[in-house]
Amino acid sequence: MSLVQNSSYYIQLEKKFGASNYEPLPVVLDRGERIYLFDVEGKRYFDFLSAYSAVNQGHCHPKLIQTLVEQSQKLTLTSRAFYNSKLGEYEEYMTKLLGYQRILPMNTGVEAAETAVKLCRKWGYQVKGIPENQAKIIFASGNFWGRSLGAISASTDPLSRREFGPYVPGFEIIPFNDTEALENSLQDPNVAGFMVEPIQGEAGVIVPNEGYLASCRKLCKEAGVLLIFDEVQTGLGRTGKLLAGDFESVKPDILVLGKALSGGILPVSAVLSNDEVMLTLKPGEHGSTYGGNPLACAVAKRAVEILVEEKMTENSYKMGELFRERMNILKSKYDVLLDVRGKGLLNAIEFNGKNGKSIAKEVCKKTMELGLLAKTTHDHTVRYAPPLVIQPQEMEEACEIIEKAVKFCLDSM
Ligand SMILES: *Cc1c(COP(=O)(O)O)cnc(C)c1O
Repeated sequence: MSLVQNSSYYIQLEKKFGASNYEPLPVVLDRGERIYLFDVEGKRYFDFLSAYSAVNQGHCHPKLIQTLVEQSQKLTLTSRAFYNSKLGEYEEYMTKLLGYQRILPMNTGVEAAETAVKLCRKWGYQVKGIPENQAKIIFASGNFWGRSLGAISASTDPLSRREFGPYVPGFEIIPFNDTEALENSLQDPNVAGFMVEPIQGEAGVIVPNEGYLASCRKLCKEAGVLLIFDEVQTGLGRTGKLLAGDFESVKPDILVLGKALSGGILPVSAVLSNDEVMLTLKPGEHGSTYGGNPLACAVAKRAVEILVEEKMTENSYKMGELFRERMNILKSKYDVLLDVRGKGLLNAIEFNGKNGKSIAKEVCKKTMELGLLAKTTHDHTVRYAPPLVIQPQEMEEACEIIEKAVKFCLDSM
């Protein structure tokens, strides 16, 4: 049946036949181009979510689609039982770009983060000499690294955890942005690693104090503990630097990437580290059927090349400044805006409301009507994270939509 259906048709299908683990805004998207999305009725929206920062390069970047099409007609999957003609060059490109000796390819962010945790434990036993099964990994409260049993075992979000136990042992949670807590926890000689997001994305774009990342680096080094940065969301230009750790010139021992690594085309993730850590893994000890497949490697290499060639990181920095400047003006006019925060194009606004109820959800509904898609994280925060290719005029237009939506919500309160 080739009849074009309206939104409610597709919504009803998902509601009837899909699982109920998501609650999408009622818009059915059909097409994407750069910073724009189009619904099945043809209405255009600014995409201010970028699939949780996976489409940094913009929707359906023509050069990336070209690579996708060309490689998909040639070879897509071999498994790692054999070598392929795309993996090595991708590995060389990524390691040289980011200054690591080795890279381990996976698919989703959660797989890469879990790989980092496994790798860290391996190193803990083989190099640090932690007694068998005693290795401990430290995480920060509010962390998010996906939905696997490992990830939810480290989570402090009750919704993610409830009725999914029992949980993976050997994890310790300390407060985020608290170097004293880290220093205390690092006293335990069985600690192998500390995994942290340089800016906590899902927690609501929580930016730590300046100096926090550098302190984490220093403390972990002194304690002989691996520092792991989960840059699945913050990485690849999102925050206005290639990596968010670059703001404090901090290089973690293990770097985790995902999301924008393929420019929103395929699930592609990676773990990077140096020999001492990476070479603790021996053949047969870890793997993935799709990890390092030639299609993913060709697309990911091109996706990162495009990001660099088209100076998207630099644009992210500039457009982020513009966004926060505009939103801070809004904040000075309307006291329902409690906080405007972020770096580069990873931003959030915290909204107050009436009787303890935030207007965040209403603002999202209204911006959607006005042609801008964004989503709340938790009840009172809205994340604003467009693709990094947004231009000044477009940013101005988007900011006007947000202002209109806020005004509307205040008038109808
Ligand atoms: C999204 C995210 C993940 C998980 O990535 P998936 O591809 O959804 O598995 C891990 N870490 C961070 C910081 C994320 O934002």
